[in-house]
Amino acid sequence: MNFDQHIAKVPAFPKPGITFYDISPILEDPAVARQAVNTLSELAARYQPDVIIGLDARGFLFSLPVALALDIGTIMVRKAGKLPGQVIERSYALEYGEATLAIQTERDLHGKRVVIIDDLLATGGTVSAAQALIEQVGATVVASLFVVELTGLNGRARLSGDVHALQQYE
Ligand code: 5GP
Repeated sequence: MNFDQHIAKVPAFPKPGITFYDISPILEDPAVARQAVNTLSELAARYQPDVIIGLDARGFLFSLPVALALDIGTIMVRKAGKLPGQVIERSYALEYGEATLAIQTERDLHGKRVVIIDDLLATGGTVSAAQALIEQVGATVVASLFVVELTGLNGRARLSGDVHALQQYE
């Protein structure tokens, strides 16, 4: 399926010069959303993961249904300050400033095969920070799946494991 017509291109968001790729139309149409989840599930199943990791926040929209389709669990990687209990954190550079991701140490990841899901791959900064966290707790990232990939930024070069996206834009 071609998802292009279900991804809104919003100019000048969140600031002038940036085009935001908005997946909201995919979510709004159950047939399209189901197709996106089914395709991500088929891709994930190839890797026989033990767990799906969803990235805050739009990644969660896909990580839980994919995990349920594979009959496995999902674990959240969240922005700092959102998860209760003991966490480990990893900061990464943004275009301006930095951001921090966190994962709960209580989650059972040691020795696990992990597939990561997020809505969009741009520079790869977010997913590579998530990968570092996941590897720090002794898991292996076997693949990272996205709804959208902005190929011109070559984010996939920063990632370990295979990378797939449902829709690519230069
Ligand atoms: P990266 O770290 O790869 O540069 O940026 C990807 C992260 O920023 C993802 O978590 C994604 O949700 C968010 N993001 C950046 N640009 C966009 C965009 O145009 N559309 C959407 N939906 N998310 C974006």
